[in-house]
Amino acid sequence: MSVTVVGSIAFDAVKTPFGVRERMLGGSAVHFALAASFFDEVRVVGPVGDDFGPEHVAVLADRGVHTDDIERVPGSTFFWSGVYGWDLNDRETLDTQLNVFANFEPKLSESSRASDVLFLANIQPDLQRQVRAQCAEARFVALDSMNLWIETARTSLIKAISEVDCLILNDAELRQLTKEPNLVLAARKVRGWGPRVVVAKQGEYGAAMVTEEGFFALPAFPLETVVDPTGAGDSFAGGFVGYIAAHPHEPPHHELLCRAMAYGTALASFNVEEFGTERVARLSSDEIHDRVAELGRMTRFIEKPLTLRG
Ligand code: AMP
Repeated sequence: MSVTVVGSIAFDAVKTPFGVRERMLGGSAVHFALAASFFDEVRVVGPVGDDFGPEHVAVLADRGVHTDDIERVPGSTFFWSGVYGWDLNDRETLDTQLNVFANFEPKLSESSRASDVLFLANIQPDLQRQVRAQCAEARFVALDSMNLWIETARTSLIKAISEVDCLILNDAELRQLTKEPNLVLAARKVRGWGPRVVVAKQGEYGAAMVTEEGFFALPAFPLETVVDPTGAGDSFAGGFVGYIAAHPHEPPHHELLCRAMAYGTALASFNVEEFGTERVARLSSDEIHDRVAELGRMTRFIEKPLTLRG
């Protein structure tokens, strides 16, 4: 079994209070693929420019990610630049250059089309829909997006959302998309469009999930060192969707999805410890297991009877 992801493959310029990177490997599909590679075979779909060197492909290939559907196109690779202040939940986008994505028409190989799980990472919703149409057999499809597409391509984004099983979005963007200030009502509205599962990413506060069976939430893993949150959302999605892909014979019921949330949370927490892909690229399976176990201990409590006054 395998997971196919379409999304940005990028060079990022990022400034946080802890340092600067002028040009590092990034992109929603890249962060997702590295995280998901711990769970299943991953196939990345998307274009790169002439400036994308073998050293960049190697970051993915070294984790066993299939890169055959990364198309080389004349021009420059997608470029994004952002800056964070002391509140790392709040980032400002300085520049977005679609470059080779502007005229991209995804043509998936047979292997990518045959994946049983599909992730439509953040990119223009029309591209997400084109890939969705080519993966008609996928048993679980999740989608992420962002404010840029909510503002510039809302109708197409809602069509794309209506064609998937799960929406994973920042909580502020979920409110912006649905025009509902309340998260539970926002999730209900999205579920009315089609997806059975809605996950709201809440940055350093964790993530919340609504399914037909109920609500579940986890805090972010408490860390003393957070250097660069770029890609945390995609790493979360990689852990979450990857965990589902690793259970091909189990339907993604609520309880499995709660465990998937824990793996997503763990992967996101590693991602933010260093810039870009640096930390996840050299992560080990044992480190992931240890962090999930610790998250389990830290979020468990035992209810005991108590007679309350009144
Ligand atoms: P995240 O921090 O998980 O929301 O994702 C950060 C990644 O998203 C960066 O590596 C960027 O290259 C990528 N990105 C930023 N803006 C866009 C956009 N408009 N479309 C696709 N990818 C983007």
